[in-house]
Amino acid sequence: MLQFFNDLSKKKEIFTPIKKRGVGLYTCGPTVYNYVHIGNLRTFLLNDILRRTLEYNGYSVKNIINITDVGHLTSDADTGEDKMDKMSKAEGRAPEEIAQFFTDAFLADIKDLNIIHPNVLCKATEHIPQQIKLIKKLEKNGFTYQTSEAVYFDTAKFPEYGKMAGFSEKKTQEAQARVEEDPEKKHLADFTLWFKRVGRHAHHIMHWDSPWGDGWPGWHIECSAMSMYYLGKTFDIHGGGIDLLPVHHINEIAQSEAATGQKFVNYWVHGEFILMDSKKMARSEGGFIMLQNLIEKGFNPLAFRYLCLNTHYRTQLNFSFQALEAAQNALNKLYQAINDFPKPRGRAPEFEERFLTAINDDLNMPSALAVVWDLLKTKNIKPSAKLNTLFKFDKVLGLKFEETYNNSQDTPEEIKLLAQDREEARQEKNWKRADEIRKKIQEAGYLVEDTPTGPDIKKIIL
Ligand SMILES: [Zn+2]
Repeated sequence: MLQFFNDLSKKKEIFTPIKKRGVGLYTCGPTVYNYVHIGNLRTFLLNDILRRTLEYNGYSVKNIINITDVGHLTSDADTGEDKMDKMSKAEGRAPEEIAQFFTDAFLADIKDLNIIHPNVLCKATEHIPQQIKLIKKLEKNGFTYQTSEAVYFDTAKFPEYGKMAGFSEKKTQEAQARVEEDPEKKHLADFTLWFKRVGRHAHHIMHWDSPWGDGWPGWHIECSAMSMYYLGKTFDIHGGGIDLLPVHHINEIAQSEAATGQKFVNYWVHGEFILMDSKKMARSEGGFIMLQNLIEKGFNPLAFRYLCLNTHYRTQLNFSFQALEAAQNALNKLYQAINDFPKPRGRAPEFEERFLTAINDDLNMPSALAVVWDLLKTKNIKPSAKLNTLFKFDKVLGLKFEETYNNSQDTPEEIKLLAQDREEARQEKNWKRADEIRKKIQEAGYLVEDTPTGPDIKKIIL
């Protein structure tokens, strides 16, 4: 039985979906004012292994990831400036243009990490009517108030406010001590549903008409509006980084449940940080690494995927280049072993059972990888059955076992050797020789392409 840690109850729970087979999964996406770093990407890897594990268990998953392209202020607690607006003014480019550029960069990253593309990737700016509708409902239900600057959610009206974060009523006020910018705001914990384009916000670039005047939505309402629009008033699983729990996610719960009178989400799954030099990787801290930096250094992006799989998602991951190199070596060893196997055929039931037990126990991927290595080592299973079983496991692991194997089988040995020579020449920066070998390979009817995951050989089809 599939179980994972639910942050609502703070314990491992058996997963019971609302519908028999179809599962709704929403994960908070990036704010597209800049590149995401590898700490952010770990969250989307969690979304991916969660989705793949559900599918492995026979569920069909409707996976939604949002793109925040308006309303996320420099502090998660709605103070400071809108990140998109700030970047747009600094760069002298339209917010839409910046959003598109960093959305494309994000999508390239998730593709490199072999993260399955969400069923819906929804932009906040394309769902303004849904957000206005939700705020109107909250207003009708008596959970809002207006100041000259904004429409707020009145947290004092929602007795369960902050429960998932373990806030008592008094603690809510203390824990979320914020720099007060709006003197008319009633309680520190109250959060913005709609910003009015007045006063210090008079020059905000993106704005829409609303019953509360010209303005734009708050970050929190975007996620409630879009998740419920696509998945219903109550849905199965909501994911995100652990840093979103104490403000963004308790706000999502409060406003969604205050609007519908129903439970918002059954299971909350949060992923831990990546640490560098024992500090949380964050843009604000300065020390952060992007996936493209790793690729530029010659790493296969799937080595980063392997590294993340090898640390449980609820454990902080200490990133170092030595650790990444070890992951790359382990992955290469797996690929080498796989490429030497005969055609896939047959099964390894005992290992399949162990693998399923591992992934279904709170997505224990380190344990699942241990099953992979044990399977490779065992002498009781035929190589063809090992390969078939590894292909099956890779539906969850996403390390491209099948693709790697097929590529290695389709290419004649002499071409592979030539490609290897060329790679060596490239590493020695002997471009002339590398180019000569490339021509030779081309004459034999194959094309070498240098991809982030290393040279890719393809047959030329005329
Ligand atoms: Zn969100």
